[in-house]
Amino acid sequence: MDFGDETCIDCCQNFITDEENCFVMVCTKPHLLVFAKFCKYPLWPAKVMKVEENLVRVEFFGDHKEADIPSEDCFLLTAKLLSKTTNNESFKEALEELKIHIQKIKERFGSFIPFESKMTISADNWENQLEQMIPGAFNKKPSTAPAAEGPIKRTVSVSELFYEDIQEIKTNINEIKSKLKHLKKQKTISLPCICVFAFVLLSIIFFNNIAHE
Ligand SMILES: [Zn+2]
Repeated sequence: MDFGDETCIDCCQNFITDEENCFVMVCTKPHLLVFAKFCKYPLWPAKVMKVEENLVRVEFFGDHKEADIPSEDCFLLTAKLLSKTTNNESFKEALEELKIHIQKIKERFGSFIPFESKMTISADNWENQLEQMIPGAFNKKPSTAPAAEGPIKRTVSVSELFYEDIQEIKTNINEIKSKLKHLKKQKTISLPCICVFAFVLLSIIFFNNIAHE
């Protein structure tokens, strides 16, 4: 699953639908959550938007600003990081927003598991790390019914809208692939068979002719 190459469609759509609350909303493909070190700021909670080699594009909770952070400065969310206390009001706000987001992930994907020990994001393995954190992240179709959000109406995302179609196309492609494989196999079996058969037939005719002479 690759959603790191371009801007997240769901994030854009949530921004259009409800700019004020969009950051706590959960995308069809949820974002890996980290605490990232940026300049002089303390480790700050953030969503991973894109991973490219050793650079991680994150969006920070609180001010929603974007930054490219080296992967060695991005730590996967742990329970300890989550329970950090501080007098910094901006940090408190960011943490509060993060907690609401996590609650929404639980409602949508069933569970959220913070990492046990502090470790950095892996540029090659971040999708597995995402699956460890949100085991339901790659399950077929996520539940489309988030918790009641008062009067806010939820629109269906483009990727959800075409989910069934995409799955059907994938199944068809797989079927065609397996049929092609089968055909190839048949071809490789039948060609030598025909050659042997022709050889035997010609031999019989040849020896018959010799015997008659
Ligand atoms: Zn998103």
